[in-house]
Parts: sequence; structure tokens; C-alpha cells
Amino acid sequence: MNLKLRAQLIIAFIVIVTSAALTFYHISQERRYIKERTERSSENIKLAFDTIVADTEQLYRFRTRVTMETEGVMDAMKRRDSDALYRAVLPRYNALHEENHHLIIMQFHAPDGRSILRVHLKEKFGDDIAAKRPMLREIHSEHKMVTGFEGGLGGIAFRVIMPIFDHGEYIGALEYGVDSGYFVDRIKHLTGSDSMVLIHKDWFGAADKKKYTDGIGQYYFSNVLNERKELISRYAFKNPSLEPRHIDLEGNSYEINPLFLKDAKNRNLGMIIAIDDVTGVSQNTADTIIDSLTVTAIMLIVLWGLIEYTFGGLIKKVNLQERYIKTILDSQKNIVVVTDGKALIFANQAFYDYFGYHSLDKFRDDHSCICDFFESGESDEYLQPKIDGLLWTDYLIQYDMKEQKVKMTVGEKTSIFTVHAKRMEYAGEIRHVVVFTDITKLNQLATQDVLTQVANRFQFDNVLEHSISLAQRYGRTLSILLIDIDFFKEVNDTYGHLIGDDVLKKLAHTLNEGIRKSDVIARWGGEEFVILLPDSELSSALKLAETLRAKVAETDFEPVVKITCSIGVARWNEGENSDQLLKRVDEKLYTAKENGRNRVVS
Ligand code: GH3
Ligand code: MG
Ligand code: MG
Repeated sequence: MNLKLRAQLIIAFIVIVTSAALTFYHISQERRYIKERTERSSENIKLAFDTIVADTEQLYRFRTRVTMETEGVMDAMKRRDSDALYRAVLPRYNALHEENHHLIIMQFHAPDGRSILRVHLKEKFGDDIAAKRPMLREIHSEHKMVTGFEGGLGGIAFRVIMPIFDHGEYIGALEYGVDSGYFVDRIKHLTGSDSMVLIHKDWFGAADKKKYTDGIGQYYFSNVLNERKELISRYAFKNPSLEPRHIDLEGNSYEINPLFLKDAKNRNLGMIIAIDDVTGVSQNTADTIIDSLTVTAIMLIVLWGLIEYTFGGLIKKVNLQERYIKTILDSQKNIVVVTDGKALIFANQAFYDYFGYHSLDKFRDDHSCICDFFESGESDEYLQPKIDGLLWTDYLIQYDMKEQKVKMTVGEKTSIFTVHAKRMEYAGEIRHVVVFTDITKLNQLATQDVLTQVANRFQFDNVLEHSISLAQRYGRTLSILLIDIDFFKEVNDTYGHLIGDDVLKKLAHTLNEGIRKSDVIARWGGEEFVILLPDSELSSALKLAETLRAKVAETDFEPVVKITCSIGVARWNEGENSDQLLKRVDEKLYTAKENGRNRVVS
């Protein structure tokens, strides 16, 4: 994965995690706020209900007194004269109904539990209503105000029942009843909340079955509230104990708070459900998530683009620089490789051209190391994969003052290189940059005689030194032959220098053919040649010298009629240096010349 993509993914991860955390925090704060508000409004409803109950009690306590003071009312009640009572109280009932449209019940009760008059239903009276209505039994026994919801002939209603006394004697009770709409109106008035009253079906009165058609669980609401049906069923869904809820419906948000209506014996008579439309007051979760996703997406796009833009420039720069370096390296004639000490990591074009590979992988399939190609020479002048217990790269670094040469053969072609290495350490990785410079031509010029193609004197000196040191070290021997053409000046004088040169070339060739591969022939100077015979005793050296002399004498050097040579032979003596040995062999050659030429002297 490249650096840019990595940075982009990291930033994306941070943005998403941060945004998720913030969203989560926001939602949980919102939930807490909603919960607090719900609790608060739950308390408000309770307070409102208590206030309404207290107000209603107060209201009908006063209304009772005024009603009872109305002329003829007290008297008719005492006499239990329903007609007279109805006539006396009707204007009053109409006035009270005008005052409060929710007043649906006004009834006079006798202490024996019988109904004296239902002002709202004047035909029905005299029945033992207390037998059916616990609240009435209570007032007839306690003689104290009783209030609460209760079903009756007129249906479920909130009832305020006041005891009536005549000179301290209990003569019955006056009951006022308001329908549930009364509370809905009053709660709206007091708190501004919409609400509805639901009645427990156990407390239904005779007339309620038609009015209260829908419900949740045991609680039923009046069918006038049908528009709230969907909301209420959503509220009750998976909410068996009817807890307060926050409901989102058709783009609106509602808070729904129940208030259970209990009677004195803690029985659930019904409940008031307050409905607060809180649309826009708090954001719903889905909207919060959508907003957060939008912001996150925008941030991701912006940051992604920003990184794309900044990194794009940076990467372009790096790529450009990489190209510069590659072009520079590829334009080099020198082979440049980078290794970690063993495997190749990079190679320039010159490398591929030289080894005939197209990719580094292919090369690595065939060779574990470029040093597989390193060859040794006659002397130990060439670098080897392992030297003095060191890897070749480490050796190069350690002995960087010394020029190191490498000999490699690819196909038929052998080449000589000088090799230099630089060590590079970065972030714990070690790399060696190794440069191979092809000096095959230069090497040839420095070590070979141009005319005859055999080794030159410089090269011979090196080889001789090396051979003497080997002989010295390992108790071996060696011999040398010094060969000089007889009367060569005459050849030049007679045939010219060019023919003389041809003779030199042919002679070198003839001599080279007559010796072993391990023998080294070199042009010593002018028309003189020297041959080094490693591991050769004087006798075998003499034998070879004689063979060579005879061969030269027999060879046709056309147009030169005849060529002969004189040869000095010497065997290296233990402890002798090259100068001493060469001096001795030169003396032998001189002797051969002195003794008449075309001969071998040792
Ligand atoms: P000798 O050795 O038998 O005493 O007689 P010589 O004529 O060979 O005498 P000397 O060794 O003194 O002469 C060497 C001659 O070789 C001198 C020079 O003209 C000739 N010579 C040396 N180098 C070259 C060369 O590269 N090409 C040609 N054509 N002649 C060379
Ligand atoms: Mg000579
Ligand atoms: Mg000569």
C-alpha cells in the first residue's frame, strides 16, 4: 500500500471514529434531555391534575352551598319530593351547565342510598343507587366529601359528592359529575398540553360501552379522540406497563406521559395521557444520524481530496527524482548494482545489457549472487566471493583504498572490471552500492604487447614476482627461457621494418604454440622473448628450449629465408629474486650468442 493511500485511510478512520463518537454522545445527550423533559412534564401533569381536582372540589363545594340555599331545594330534598326538587333546581342546573359544559350529572341522594333526583335524567329516581356505587356508600357512612371517577347510569364521570346537613343532621348528598373532557380542557388550559382521559373498563357505567370504543389494554378512550388513535397505539406498542414515551410519527415528535388515576383504595380507575407535540424542540435520532453522516462524508471528501492534492505533488516530486536517478544510472556505461550483501536489489541498464537479462527476478532465479561470475586468474589479483573470511562486499568496504579487479565471463567473452563499493545504512537496512567499471581494453593495453599479442614486460614482471613468491612459499621450482633472434638487424636492413615486424609476430606465434597453457610467454623487448615455466626443472626447461630453437630454425618466415634464435635457460634458485634470476639467464643468452648463435645455453 502506498503512503498516500495509507494516510488517506488513517484520516478516514479518525474522521469516522470521531464522528461516530460525537454522534453517539449527541444522541445520548439528546436522549437524556428528552428523558428529563418527559419526567418533568409527567410531574407537571400530576400537579395539574391535583390542582384541577382541588379546584373542582372547591368549585362544587361552593356550588353545593348556593344550590342548597336556592329556594325550595332544601325543603323538597328533605321531603324527597322529586318533582318539586326538579322544579326548584332546574334553573340552577341550567346555569351550572352553562358555566361548565362538561357537567353531565347533578343528583340528589337520600341517606338510605336511594336516588331522590337525577336532574340530568329526571324520569329515573327512587332506585337503590348506593348499592351499585361505592362512592355513595362511602358518603352515606362517612358524611364527608367524596370525589373520584366512577361509572353510573350517566356513564363514567368525575364526581364530587357533598354531604348535606340540616341543622347538623345528615339528610343526604348532592352529587356533581363532569365527563372526562373536562380534564382534557383544564389540562390544556393549565399546562398547554393536549391530553386524553382513558377509563379502566372495570369502572364503565351503563352508558359507556358505546362511548368508549377503543383502548389500550384495560384502558379505553372516548371515540371523539379517534384522531389520536394511531399515536396512542404506537405509544402502547411493546409498552405493557405504559411508561412515558417519546414517539416520532409522520414527521412530528410527541412526548407522551401517563398519569394513573387511583381511587382511595388504590384501584386504577383510569389514566390521563398527556400528549406534548415537541416537533422541532429536539432532533430525532434518524435526523441526527443523517446530519452526522452528511458532515462526515463532506469531511472525508475534503480531507481525502486534500491529501490527494498534497501527496500528489509530493509523490510527483519523488517520482521525478526517482526517474532522474534511474536515468542517470541507466546512462552509465558502468554496471551499478545495489545489494544487501547477498541478493541484488537494484541493477542499472548496463547490468541487464551485460548479463543479457530483462529483469532482476529472472537473474535471481538463475544466480544467487553476481559474485557467482567472479573468476580467479593466474595470480590472485581478482576479487573472489569470499576473501580472508569476508564477503566480497565487506572486503571492498574494508580495503577501499586498494583497487580491486573482477574477472567475469559471459558467453564467450571474458571481461575485466575494477570494482568499487559504498556502504549505505538507512533505517536499520544496510545496502552496498557496487560499481563495476569495464577495463578489459585498458587491461589489455597495460599487460599485452600490441605487436605480438603476447604478454608485455610489465605483465611478465608481475607474473614472475608472483610465481617466485609461490615457489618460495610452497617449495616449488620454476625455470625461464630468454630468446633473442640472431642477426635481426640484417633482416630489417634487407626486408624492411614491416617484414621484420611480421617475423616478430610469427615467431611469437610459433613459440606460443610450442609451450603449455600454464607457461607464460612475454615480449621482453625488441626481438627478445622470455618464457616462464612454472614447476619446471632445468632439464625439462633445456629440453623445451632445444625443441623451440629447432622449431624456429625449421619454420618458414617467408620472405625471410631463414631465422634462428639463441636461448638462455636458467632455473630459479631458492632465495633468489627476479632480478638475480633474470641477470643469470641474460648471461646464458649472451654466452649462446658468443658461442656462435642458434643454440641453447644453460
Ligand atoms: P645478434 O642479436 O645476433 O647479436 O644480432 P642482432 O642484429 O639481432 O643485434 P641486436 O640484438 O643488437 O639488434 C636488434 C635489432 O632488432 C635492432 C632493431 O633494429 C631491431 N628491432 C628491435 N625491435 C624491433 C621491432 O619492433 N621491429 C623491427 N622490425 N625491428 C626491431
Ligand atoms: Mg637483441
Ligand atoms: Mg638479436
